[in-house]
Amino acid sequence: MSVIAIDGTFASGKGTLAKKLAAHYNLPHLDTGKLYRATAKIALENNFDLSNPAQCAEAARQIDPGALDDPTLKSGPIGAAASKVSIHPAVRQELLDFQREFSSKGGVLDGRDIGTVICPDADVKLYIDAEPSERARRRHSELTSYGEDLSFEQVLEQLTERDERDKNRAEAPLKIASDAHLIDTTNLSIERAFDVAVKLIDAVLAAKAPNK
Ligand code: C5P
Repeated sequence: MSVIAIDGTFASGKGTLAKKLAAHYNLPHLDTGKLYRATAKIALENNFDLSNPAQCAEAARQIDPGALDDPTLKSGPIGAAASKVSIHPAVRQELLDFQREFSSKGGVLDGRDIGTVICPDADVKLYIDAEPSERARRRHSELTSYGEDLSFEQVLEQLTERDERDKNRAEAPLKIASDAHLIDTTNLSIERAFDVAVKLIDAVLAAKAPNK
């Protein structure tokens, strides 16, 4: 039973990689960003004030963990709102038990604070990043495929804003855990990034295995 923690910046490819790794190692996968997106969606639907910690924590309490595959959670506005509700310690606290319970059975979790806060004892920690312009290019083509009409420049601006907020918040900011392995996907296809990650994970797990 292994826990693989994957953190990284927005549109770095960490979600796709996490999904592929979970299938490869036959482990359950949790995209923890969906918890914050679902919180944001509930907060927006109820006209809650995104800067109000108590209202946002109430939204987090109302999440239905069985409804995280809702495709509307992927939208740009919900992602931006997610990064606003996620700054509140009360929201993070509400979502902690679910994530810890999930990881207690082994799995691949991806997010911003998995290696640092949620699973500090994970067997393997990866930190996925890519150049902002490449991430913006990927996100722009994804949004275009959903029918959202934003220019590349607007996407790059929003992404830079999101990075700033995620990295500079006081509670559980996005940062590289001291024992995480960095993979820069700027020049890597999904398949290549997957190969690099599998080699790395296999090496870390082999080094940890008893009776080597
Ligand atoms: O990864 P995704 O873009 O779905 O995450 C949406 C937002 O949720 C992030 O920008 C971040 O602010 C927040 N988040 C977080 N901690 C996580 C996962 C996501 O704060 N573990």
